[in-house]
Amino acid sequence: MKKTKKFYEGKAKIMYETDKPDFVIQEFKDDATAFDATKRGTIKEKSVINNEISSALFQLLESKGIPTHFVKKLSDREMLVKRLDIILVEVTIRNISAGGLSKLLSIEEGIVLKSPLLEYHYKKDELHDPLINDYHIEMLGLATSKEMKKIRDYSFSINEILKDFFGKVGLKLVDFKLEFGRHKGKILLGDEISPDTCRLWDKKTNEKLDKDRFRRDLGRIEEAYQEVLKRIKS
Ligand code: UDP
Repeated sequence: MKKTKKFYEGKAKIMYETDKPDFVIQEFKDDATAFDATKRGTIKEKSVINNEISSALFQLLESKGIPTHFVKKLSDREMLVKRLDIILVEVTIRNISAGGLSKLLSIEEGIVLKSPLLEYHYKKDELHDPLINDYHIEMLGLATSKEMKKIRDYSFSINEILKDFFGKVGLKLVDFKLEFGRHKGKILLGDEISPDTCRLWDKKTNEKLDKDRFRRDLGRIEEAYQEVLKRIKS
């Protein structure tokens, strides 16, 4: 498949059209941003690591019956995916308190939640991705209630699959963010799943092995991403 026109460049990825309208190429970047892109930097080899981690996790989810946009890994930094009409709702699932939840409700980080917590955020940078609920989604016409039921069901299933998978390699899945889109009338999981979009803590030491190392200037960022990849491949 031939890579043709660049049609979107985001903070961590570039999207290219191909000679087939239903397929696009997702290219990962080393750039990292945090706090509404007020903090910027690069993480060496992040693109390569995240492409590999995401490819492995999409394949795992597909094997468990979750439909995703993933087709195949094309190169170190590129993945062939199905073209999606992205739904502007970011789905967050949390198993342990951290980040935005701790701030919102003033609760300390690291509290294991009784059951997984699902949140929606409106994907709109200008508004700083505000927390929204099903009624806002309906009011804004972002997705139908039938689509949202699918998205919710997929998200909780993905949480169980990933929690189990990461648990087996000594990682706690604290929280993560998902994006979904429409492709030929079906809802597919899109975007990426990586230490950029998940919080992962070492089971024994609680060491952070994710983007919080960048957000909070904890150092050894690339090493943490490499460690996640190493465990996934183990
Ligand atoms: N997240 C993400 N993109 C965003 C916001 C959050 O991938 O634009 C991920 C983040 O890495 C974490 C989870 O979603 O794993 C929950 O993030 P949170 O709401 O706590 O916000 P943050 O603390 O990252 O600002």
